[in-house]
Amino acid sequence: MPELPEVETIARGVHERVRGDRIVDVWFGNYREPFKTPAPRQAKGLAGRAVLAVHRTGKHIVFELGSSDAANSGTEPEAQWIVHLGMTGRLLVTTPDAPVAAHTHARLDLASGRELRFVDPRRFGRLEFRSLKKGAPFQGPGAEPLTIGADEFAALFHSRRMPIKAALLNQTLLAGVGNIYADESLFQAGIRPRRRTNRLTADELGRLRQALLKVLDHAIRLGGSSVSDYVDANGVRGFFQLEHCVYQRTGEPCLRCQTPIRRILVAGRGTHFCPKCQR
Ligand SMILES: [Zn+2]
Repeated sequence: MPELPEVETIARGVHERVRGDRIVDVWFGNYREPFKTPAPRQAKGLAGRAVLAVHRTGKHIVFELGSSDAANSGTEPEAQWIVHLGMTGRLLVTTPDAPVAAHTHARLDLASGRELRFVDPRRFGRLEFRSLKKGAPFQGPGAEPLTIGADEFAALFHSRRMPIKAALLNQTLLAGVGNIYADESLFQAGIRPRRRTNRLTADELGRLRQALLKVLDHAIRLGGSSVSDYVDANGVRGFFQLEHCVYQRTGEPCLRCQTPIRRILVAGRGTHFCPKCQR
């Protein structure tokens, strides 16, 4: 499943390719699941609109859309197209003659002659249209881990009593942090995944915030160099693998101290840690 760094990479890649373009025509497939906004209403809302920008909010990719007035698309967004990739969703920028992959649920013809496609074999992904004249812009449920300040970060966890690993995965606290980056950042910070959030010291929470930033930033930079693998139709590689220190390295020696990495369940999720380096 794509996590924050992958979604950030995809959003940046799509932004570079379609910013300033215009949606000329829209085709949607017959499956209902991908359409959080009913497909006919969504198609009507998208058609003709200029793409002003594409960015990530939490694990969502948000297209900021201008007016459908071709003479004056404006600079202020009037609508949004919100794409959640789910487990297996992909956004591809391609040409109309490129072979259409199985499980393609959306094809947006662009004025430049290119085509934007949404492909999702397992159909956990979601497409949503919002008119900003009728409602508020999309906001993720939790705080943004790349920009959250130290005080705000500490405040998220101080008053709770859940295992820190569970808190990191809770999307209403922090947006977009999944299993891999939770395990890796707890290792970098030297904190055991089952520690209760209210027992963590200010120093530990400070280390955790820094570790999370470092791990996410590193992954985004790795992804940045392989962006075409995600968004160009000829790119077929899956989501990149970070050089994990603990994630899915059960029984293998810790890269710092050689102690075998252990796997436990926290909040129902496989959780990997070094029993010596993490306290
Ligand atoms: Zn270790």
